[in-house]
Amino acid sequence: MSRPVQARIDLPALRHNYALALHLGQSGQALPIIKANAYGHGMDIVAATLEPLAPALGVACMEEALALREAGIRKPVLLLEGFFRAEELVLASRHGFWLMLHHERQLAALAKARLARPVTCWLKIDSGMHRLGFAPERAGAVYDQLRAMPAVADEIVLATHFSNAEQLHDDSTERQLRCFEQATATIQAPRSLANSAALMAWPAARSDWNRPGFMLYGHSPFGAADPQAEELRPVMTLRSEVIALRQLAAGETVGYGDSWTASRPSRIATVAIGYGDGYPRRASGKAWVSIDGQRAPVVGRVSMDLLSVDVSQVGTVEIGSEVILWGRDPGLDEVAEWAGTNGYEVMTRVTQRVPRIALS
Ligand SMILES: *Cc1c(COP(=O)(O)O)cnc(C)c1O
Repeated sequence: MSRPVQARIDLPALRHNYALALHLGQSGQALPIIKANAYGHGMDIVAATLEPLAPALGVACMEEALALREAGIRKPVLLLEGFFRAEELVLASRHGFWLMLHHERQLAALAKARLARPVTCWLKIDSGMHRLGFAPERAGAVYDQLRAMPAVADEIVLATHFSNAEQLHDDSTERQLRCFEQATATIQAPRSLANSAALMAWPAARSDWNRPGFMLYGHSPFGAADPQAEELRPVMTLRSEVIALRQLAAGETVGYGDSWTASRPSRIATVAIGYGDGYPRRASGKAWVSIDGQRAPVVGRVSMDLLSVDVSQVGTVEIGSEVILWGRDPGLDEVAEWAGTNGYEVMTRVTQRVPRIALS
């Protein structure tokens, strides 16, 4: 018998969320971002599901893009950090990868490259995130330089990225929009601005190529209370099973550090999942899980492979009972809050050890 931890991946939900992203973008295209193992969901199954619907897929780097080709994905793949070494240009040309350019060093390498097939380039402008991108005042000159290079394909997309689009009452998104518009006003080229938050909440950020990531996995960057969150369907359900049950007397403790003591006679279920699977240790002492549709508190410390749950109030529990760590209830946002982080990090940290099971 194999260990019962699974991340169930609801493929119809993924398609539904992609369709919603596409719809929000109106006439623009939606380029699904599937970096970091598709935010922990399993890059192969997510790519195979979205490839028939999307014009191209987005990842962070060459290693991820090559993994997609190995998995049989044929559509263009955008590398959000472009390339790091000149040798990668040959691979990009051969495999039809698109490169997001953000740095002068990349221009120098491209200018020297002799490629069998020119590569499609996106030109990233730093409109205020101050992480990657060319200075806004350089946009026109860099664009002209790229247009003149034989290694660069004719159509260049102008791109930028927002630092705070999930804050509706902060003016940074408007400032970034204005900066980008001014920097690119005289350039006739397609544009790409919006991540999930901008696509959902900033109509002025919608453009030719939207780049949704997080929302595709069924969660709103504005949190579970956002009305739009209801239209999204969570894609991942992290589940395991009860593998042991015991009765403790008042005064007995559970787990490492003896951090939880039974205040009354308690029934404790041991569940096969821990931080070695990506369930956050920092949720210890705050979390609850769902067993047979009922909430039961996690007690003691989450350990690497196991955690313990007080099931004194859940009458039906037995060995093999299904335990939901996150999915519909509890939602990912709750788990993130217990762990003091955001949903992005929690989903991305589901480890290699957890089988991703596609539900179609
Ligand atoms: C990760 C990423 C996205 C997707 O952002 P979400 O908030 O997950 O929608 C879009 N653009 C760039 C440049 C990114 O790095």
